[in-house]
Amino acid sequence: MRNTQFSYTDERFADILMLRYKLDNFSSLSLRQKKLVYYLSEAALYGRDITFDQFGRYNLKIRKVFEQIYLNYKGDRTADEFMELVVYLKRVWFSSGIYHHYGCDKFVPGFSKAFFIDAVKSVDGSLLPLDEGQTVDGLCEELLPIIFDPDVMPVKVNKKDGFDLVETSACNFYDGVTQSEVEEYYASKKNPDDKEPLSYGLNTTVKKCDGRVVEEVWRIGAKYGAAIEKIVYWLEMASTVAENDKQRSVIDALIKYYKSGDLADFNEYCIKWVDEKESAVDFINGFIEVYDDPLGMKGTWEGLVEYRDVEGTRRTRVISDNAQWFEDHSPVSASFKKEQVKGVSAKVITAAMLGGDLYPSSAIGINLPNSNWIRSVHGSKSVTIGNLTDAYNQAAKGNGFREEFVYGPEEKQLLEKYADITGNLHTDLHECVGHGSGRLLPGVDPDALKAYGSTIEEARADLFGLYYLPDARLVELGLTPDAEAYKAEYYSYMMNGLLTQMVRVEPGHDLEEAHMRNRQLIARWALVKGSAEQVVELVKKEGKTYVKINDYLQLRRLFAELLCEIQRIKSEGDYEAARALVETYGVKLDKALHEEVRERYRTLHLAPYKGFVNPVYVPEYDAEGKIADVKIDYTEGYTEQMLRYSRDYSNLSI
Ligand code: ZN
Repeated sequence: MRNTQFSYTDERFADILMLRYKLDNFSSLSLRQKKLVYYLSEAALYGRDITFDQFGRYNLKIRKVFEQIYLNYKGDRTADEFMELVVYLKRVWFSSGIYHHYGCDKFVPGFSKAFFIDAVKSVDGSLLPLDEGQTVDGLCEELLPIIFDPDVMPVKVNKKDGFDLVETSACNFYDGVTQSEVEEYYASKKNPDDKEPLSYGLNTTVKKCDGRVVEEVWRIGAKYGAAIEKIVYWLEMASTVAENDKQRSVIDALIKYYKSGDLADFNEYCIKWVDEKESAVDFINGFIEVYDDPLGMKGTWEGLVEYRDVEGTRRTRVISDNAQWFEDHSPVSASFKKEQVKGVSAKVITAAMLGGDLYPSSAIGINLPNSNWIRSVHGSKSVTIGNLTDAYNQAAKGNGFREEFVYGPEEKQLLEKYADITGNLHTDLHECVGHGSGRLLPGVDPDALKAYGSTIEEARADLFGLYYLPDARLVELGLTPDAEAYKAEYYSYMMNGLLTQMVRVEPGHDLEEAHMRNRQLIARWALVKGSAEQVVELVKKEGKTYVKINDYLQLRRLFAELLCEIQRIKSEGDYEAARALVETYGVKLDKALHEEVRERYRTLHLAPYKGFVNPVYVPEYDAEGKIADVKIDYTEGYTEQMLRYSRDYSNLSI
């Protein structure tokens, strides 16, 4: 039976709307490529529990308890408290834990302690994740403060200045160590003269053993080994159907690293991976991004399977073919530029499976590897995920957002005419040339900016793209339709950075997430620095605040000025300047404005966050039991999918 039904939206709960992404042209892949997608997809799903565990040491236990209640609760399933408990579970699934995926704060349950205890006790004890000798009462006692007490492990990643960031962050990368102990430990490992350093700390838990600081490695036979074994099994299957020898050696290098846990093997894998550009199917699988570690070292597990979007890739090829031109003509000081920009590859891809930290909430642009020296010697691979952007755009059509927040008809027209194009283009520039641009001065520690590093790096990539959007060269290259188009992105960017991204933040809170901090940093800095000439203004109309841009070209000059400074900070590793910029412009929210924007947004009844339900691959077998075809089923719902993943892809002991 074949299922061809497709809907871009699935269920809605809390502040979230679930979407679906479509896999155009999947049927035109060869059988071998389809098998490769299928095997890599299995590998992408088996890391799910690692991500949960990394985001907090009680996450897997809490998920299991709530799932058992969901599946077995015999009381009134329509009662308010039960429904609230279900919402809590859906949020836990969405965030891979009990902390908001964007804001990092612990969820506030909408049900009482008494109800929770009754619900747990209604489940057969043999189905609950009890520690050895633990009673059901003991389990409740253990979990109650974690779930209900706002003072116990309140935030996943704490980047607030002046705290011990390790001790005050609930993410599960450190155990019984302080920030200064961790920093000393890694400082002693790093050699500033090493031209090809390892990504120290990327794949380990740091803890104390007999009073000494030690690392526990994540690999087969050690921590997370049970999940990694499954990932490796499916990678080995994928290796048998690789598109070519080069891709096979990439997959085999990853397997080797998962077995050894040796970061030298990881570097070798990254170099092979970045160098493999011929295959249509590609993947990310491993401990990659470091945003969830307050010190920016530990890699969160993520998985992505994708294949090339031929049409979209034409656009980004033009950008990457001109990478040297972009580097040469950027306004930053010559000493911070790369003399030769190497191997900036860029493509638009179709996501085929999201896993770990990329599921269900996903990035739409990715640039890897993260290691600075590998990027400068071997280049980087950059992708924008076309079918996810499409799904966002389709789901947002006619939802009233622009009508509420855009200043006037002129701006609305600009957005309608150009925003889809310039939005994609800015993402492309950010990923293809932004992150790859510039260089560190010799001897500068790549981690010198510490907790501010991610924000500064994102700001650098965003500004690089913003600076170039109005350039006449982009019209010449056919990337923008005319000289006016960039204004759509300038307006969207400033509106988002100054106003609308605040809808995602709870009242009374500041900005924590690196991308949100970077956007506000850029927008507020430009607002303040251009205030004498009224380049950009916040204006009131009928009690509502709007962004008004009076001089677009002057705004470009401001972006150029900030790009120069941000590049200097990065190149020189100027921690104090990074701290001052981020803390002054990128962290604090204007309270009254925050309240107003949230209220206006609330009246639209939109969900500020979106995530994606994965497709289901259905292999079809021939008479000999071999895969004859792989079909896609889009009909699985969010709850069904999460329960299935917890049942079929869960193998870490809790
Ligand atoms: Zn980025």
